[in-house]
Amino acid sequence: MPAVIDAKKCNGCKLCDLYCPLDVIHMEGKLAVVRYPEECWHCGACRQECARGAISFTFPWAMLAA
Ligand code: SF4
Ligand code: SF4
Repeated sequence: MPAVIDAKKCNGCKLCDLYCPLDVIHMEGKLAVVRYPEECWHCGACRQECARGAISFTFPWAMLAA
């Protein structure tokens, strides 16, 4: 599953947009949005940078087993 952003927690700091290496996340005004979820490779950079804990995702089983 790609990154999921909790709009209630997001404060629009833009760090996830800045750090996503694949340009998956874009800002829509003051809210971060996962615009290209199919491109997400679950690197975790967005979640790591989000001080608000607004980003979560579920790792595919194949990645956990690797
Ligand atoms: S890093 Fe977190 S708080 Fe900042 S824009 Fe992204 S989701 Fe929102
Ligand atoms: S997990 Fe990585 S690739 Fe996916 S949205 Fe976050 S920073 Fe981008």
